[in-house]
Amino acid sequence: MRLLLVEDDDSLGAGIRDALERSRYLVEWVRDGALGLEALRSGGFDLAVLDLGLPRLDGMQVLRQARDAGVRTPVLVLSARDTTTQRIGGLDAGADDYMVKPFDIDELLARLRVIERRHRGAVANLVTHGDLEIDTAAMSVRLRGQAVALQRREFLLLRKLIDHAGQVMSRQQLEESIYGWDGDVESNALEVHVHNLRRKLYPGLIRTVRGVGYVVDALAVREGA
Ligand code: CA
Repeated sequence: MRLLLVEDDDSLGAGIRDALERSRYLVEWVRDGALGLEALRSGGFDLAVLDLGLPRLDGMQVLRQARDAGVRTPVLVLSARDTTTQRIGGLDAGADDYMVKPFDIDELLARLRVIERRHRGAVANLVTHGDLEIDTAAMSVRLRGQAVALQRREFLLLRKLIDHAGQVMSRQQLEESIYGWDGDVESNALEVHVHNLRRKLYPGLIRTVRGVGYVVDALAVREGA
């Protein structure tokens, strides 16, 4: 479990780092907001602990800019000041949890475990294909971190093609998956949905196989942990 710690206070940072390392985390510690944002954007972290009062870039800005850039790493925010507005601001900016200093290190560890469990549940519903991320539970789609609005049938069609990436799907298979078996399908409906998906996502995503159907090409698979 790789964890990014962004904290400018030397003794507090060292204390948190030591406790995290004793609890099996691989910790990378940076001491200002700009480095924190750079590290978050570079990816590769499973979790982050982020202080708010930081040199160069405020923690709230770090979080907001990271989320705007599509970074989905769970973040626990640490703050010296406890006001309700700040707490709400942090959660609105995309924090997964919020702790006020001074805090008990065991409570921090416990909350990180809760965030991990919650995030694993969410990740189980995520299907990714290159820059595309499909949340099968929420029926939502993100392209390079940006939400894309799809109609229900467009979503079902995309899901079917991605689930069978690398496999040419016949018109009949695709129509069944979006209309069911007895659906009254207009003859050009499938083409319209394919056209819309190419337009809303990107043109090369779905390839036409003349006389057969459609295919989303397989990507090299990168196994997750
Ligand atoms: Ca600070």
